[in-house]
Amino acid sequence: MDDKKVSRREFLAKTSAAASAASVTAGATHVHSHEAEDDVQSEYSLRARALVSVLTKKNLIDPATLDQVVDYYETKVGPHIGARLVARSWLDPDFKDRLVADAGAAAAELGISGTLSSEFRAVANEPGVHNLVVCTLCSCYPWPLLGLPPTWYKDTAYRAKAVIDPRGVLREFGLTLDDDVEVRVWDSTAEVRYMVIPERPDHTNGLSEEELAALVTRDSMIGAERVPEPG
Ligand code: FE
Repeated sequence: MDDKKVSRREFLAKTSAAASAASVTAGATHVHSHEAEDDVQSEYSLRARALVSVLTKKNLIDPATLDQVVDYYETKVGPHIGARLVARSWLDPDFKDRLVADAGAAAAELGISGTLSSEFRAVANEPGVHNLVVCTLCSCYPWPLLGLPPTWYKDTAYRAKAVIDPRGVLREFGLTLDDDVEVRVWDSTAEVRYMVIPERPDHTNGLSEEELAALVTRDSMIGAERVPEPG
């Protein structure tokens, strides 16, 4: 398992109680042990399976169509889409300018279009500026560009603490920013969703656009980490 993901889970476990109290949304305090998470997941999958079974029997949904929808979110959309935008913007500063100015139009240049139902904005990290994306209200996320959101993104602890103490959150994620780096936190909504253009790692001269895209992680496009150096 990825060490960083483990540390994010541990972060959630530690801060869940305090953050729930500070959260802008009302709701039960979640316990984030791995066991509790598994229980919640299985409860939701049981409910989902029961719903599918009832709706299929009533001829309200077609299981084949449902399979197509699931396949779309599991295999067609994902962080590899956002990574293409990032890699192109690293190689082409004019494209990066267009991406920041009008992300939908820039994405359409790469044939990524038609699925962005919400307005979508790209915010660029640069020396002295680090961007972090959150949805304080629920879990709004640029699905067509980044695929399924990570569990921690939807967690009350992250949603509350990201706006109160973003540096603390990043530190606990393993990213310590210098004091003179400005942290900008972007609160997503159903209307506007954000993606971070992370900074290009140092030792990537000569890499192709495809190779660069392969380096870009999902979490770096949320602002939760830097893109790791290759190798
Ligand atoms: Fe939301």
